[in-house]
Amino acid sequence: MSIAIIFTNKNPEPWEAALKTHLPETVVEVYPSIKDYAAVDFVLCWKPEPNVIDKFPNLKVIQSIGAGIDRIINTQTIKEDQKVTRMVDENLSNDMFEFLLAAVLGQLKNINLYQQQQAQKIWLPTNYNSIKDFNVCILGLGTIGSFVAGKFTALGFKVKGWSVTRKHILGVESFEGEQEMSAALNGTDILINILPATIQTENILNKNRLKQLNQGAFLINVGRGEHLVEEDLLSLLDEGHLSGALLDVFKAEPLPMNHPFWVHPKIQVTPHVASITNIKSAVLTVATNYQNHLSGKPLKFEVSLKKGY
Ligand code: NDP
Repeated sequence: MSIAIIFTNKNPEPWEAALKTHLPETVVEVYPSIKDYAAVDFVLCWKPEPNVIDKFPNLKVIQSIGAGIDRIINTQTIKEDQKVTRMVDENLSNDMFEFLLAAVLGQLKNINLYQQQQAQKIWLPTNYNSIKDFNVCILGLGTIGSFVAGKFTALGFKVKGWSVTRKHILGVESFEGEQEMSAALNGTDILINILPATIQTENILNKNRLKQLNQGAFLINVGRGEHLVEEDLLSLLDEGHLSGALLDVFKAEPLPMNHPFWVHPKIQVTPHVASITNIKSAVLTVATNYQNHLSGKPLKFEVSLKKGY
């Protein structure tokens, strides 16, 4: 019985150290330096290379260190006796809220516009908006989306949210399913996408949907790059239906050097940093899950492979 850490483009050392502290009796190795592949029954993953889990014949648990599991289930063949779990952590939700608050207030107060004007030494005051006048719509009222919706409502924003099933969050107007998506989008000034990437949500941020937002609306995508039809965003920005976008996630990461988003004046690019897993708190979930697995108890935050999130 042992744990393997399988990371791509992420330093595994802090995780290795944290796991060894919390599970001192357990062998923790970092792929590809694995002494005995057959001994590994639990892997900790971040963007694993395609089909890597096939190398572990006795693997039972695949633990994502992130909230999303799309980069795992789209690249691996999960066997019937294997379980996939994800990260749910208060810090992830709170850090996402803080990131989104910064983005939304920046838009309300024209901060991006003034940065561009400063680069050209232009002194040109523009009307700003206030929290009470702004309609926010959140796609995805899950662990993170519900938390963010509640916080934005408490600050005085008018908040709508959309999910598969209706939610009951104080002050938040909740919409469910395909049939109510237009009602959620209509009248929106800021659209925040925090959906998981699934077959159903792929390309959901398309011209047809984004056209339903208010004229001059702003898009924030912290879900996944697969949600956005990039050409549709560019044409809606060019024709002025959208005033701008802040994008944290992309189809290809890092964003390729020649991608038009890098230099578009109405697009702000952040390098997938909206909310980063906090090792100190997240390692407790991983350690608990490893112990639950050993003692045959249910895992925390196991995902539904059928739903894809
Ligand atoms: P959850 O699984 O808790 O929530 C997902 C939400 O999306 C649920 O409300 C679910 O509805 C809704 N949903 C799923 N499919 C559909 C659909 N077809 N139509 C309508 N609603 C749908 O996930 P989290 O809140 O923890 O995380 C969400 C995503 O945020 C992650 O998958 C990841 O992609 C992204 N993320 C990005 C980060 C970043 O730094 N950029 C950091 C962390 C997360 P219901 O509740 O009814 O099932």
